[in-house]
Amino acid sequence: MQAITHFLVGALIQKFLFGWLHLPWNFLLVIVLAILSHFVVDVFVKITFHTPEPYPEWRFWVIANTSFYIASLITAIILFIPYWWAMLAANVIDIYDWVILRPVQAVKRKKNPEYTLEKYMIHPRIERFRDKHLTWVPNLLYDPKGVIPEIIIDIILFLLLYLL
Ligand SMILES: [Zn+2]
Repeated sequence: MQAITHFLVGALIQKFLFGWLHLPWNFLLVIVLAILSHFVVDVFVKITFHTPEPYPEWRFWVIANTSFYIASLITAIILFIPYWWAMLAANVIDIYDWVILRPVQAVKRKKNPEYTLEKYMIHPRIERFRDKHLTWVPNLLYDPKGVIPEIIIDIILFLLLYLL
């Protein structure tokens, strides 16, 4: 899902679980659970508008993604203190796949189009799990209506973070 959703889940995990244990176990517990939360959230990515490829010529795609980027950035700034490390942990899987491995693969493919780092990537594993065990989940990946479930999820997460 979008970075904002992972940020909010990470922040919630820190808010509710950090006090359970003492140093250093509280940090360890939050980091491990925030990383694991990425798998749980991404398993349900199909209920959101989240095309696997970019569509810069599709107006709705550009507006939706730009809006989510801006919302993610604002959320990261607002929640930076004290939640930055839990938010970072919740996004480590995306950083590993999308910020490190995919760009390296893209550079290598310029010389060798067959080059792939997919076996080291984590998202294809999440996708395989989803395709095998969650076939009942509606597929809105390419459906503009898919922004609604993610917005609702983010509003609920915000409310949980601020009202509880
Ligand atoms: Zn992800």
